[in-house]
Amino acid sequence: MRIAVYGTRSYDRTFLSAANADHGFDLQFLDAPLTLSTARLAEGHEAVCVFVNDKADRAVLEALASAGVRLLALRCAGYNNVDLAAADRLGIAVVRVPAYSPHAVAEFTVGLLLSLDRKIHRAWSRVRENNFALDGLVGRNLHGRVAGVVGTGQIGALVARTLRAGFGCDVLASDPVVDEGLVEIGVRYVEREALLRESEIVTLHCPLTPDTYHLIDAAVLVAARPGLVVVNTSRGALIDTAALIEALKQRRVGGVALDVYEQEAGVFFDDLSSEIIDDDLLQRLLTFPNVLMTGHQAFLTEEALDAIARTTLQSVSDFAAGRALPNRIRSETVRS
Ligand code: NAD
Repeated sequence: MRIAVYGTRSYDRTFLSAANADHGFDLQFLDAPLTLSTARLAEGHEAVCVFVNDKADRAVLEALASAGVRLLALRCAGYNNVDLAAADRLGIAVVRVPAYSPHAVAEFTVGLLLSLDRKIHRAWSRVRENNFALDGLVGRNLHGRVAGVVGTGQIGALVARTLRAGFGCDVLASDPVVDEGLVEIGVRYVEREALLRESEIVTLHCPLTPDTYHLIDAAVLVAARPGLVVVNTSRGALIDTAALIEALKQRRVGGVALDVYEQEAGVFFDDLSSEIIDDDLLQRLLTFPNVLMTGHQAFLTEEALDAIARTTLQSVSDFAAGRALPNRIRSETVRS
């Protein structure tokens, strides 16, 4: 089985190569992301492996199908970048890694929130220059604050539990599926509008769907509590970035911690430190003293990378052997 692995970086190669010792697939590591123009690189490969910002829309999938690809293996959990209906129509099976390490993302989320709130990143850059003054570094306790968790699946549930049981926050949650274990520890499920209106901190852990696109928009930010802290480690397009910048400029938002960004494709995962970046929204976001941003890093632990590599190659192995694919996603999955 030949697999074209798009958009690979050093850590992908390390963990996929190690996991491949159990399989012996022919892995072709490509630096390039999957786009319409790079789809032809999959010629002669039955499987293609992609990540969060690789584009698998209808046109790309048609190009892959013509190149002979029969399996698209996402080495991530989210699948908003894939046209599943087109994949089904073209006979390309799509698999993902539904749960490689919710702990990796949940822990990073809480870490980002703490860094932002307690200004740890700013303190570190001061201390490195022998500036030990504390002025401007006053933070807030997490204890007793109202924290809203949107989406209490695997990641959101861990975050909600940590904020509630670990820090003693008053945790509100919104999810069509109620987690009774969270209710037992005092998490209160409310309508999404109420959560966004009443929370002092909002952290996003739902998938990106038509229903959740721009879940945080201008109207939400106007109705929110003054000084709202927004954390997003899920998908960038859950937030209307232009509206967020406007709210930051009007001093209505207290702080923003982002691991994901609406237009991150083509920017994140690359060293652009010597480049001029054309995205004015991204550049403006980075100028605010109360915005903390990382480049889609929440998943990046050894445990998660190992689990991603193993699960992905196991799915390819199952596909090659004609076995059932427990991690397959179809267009019906999205609609249900
Ligand atoms: P999950 O499927 O276990 O949980 C998602 C939850 O969202 C489910 O409980 C679902 O019922 C709920 N949900 C669906 N629609 C909703 C809505 N409209 N409002 C509120 N809740 C809704 O997924 P997960 O493993 O917890 O991952 C959550 C998201 O985190 C993924 O969709 C992915 O986008 C993102 N993610 C980011 C990283 C990263 O590195 N930054 C890594 C992994 C996952």
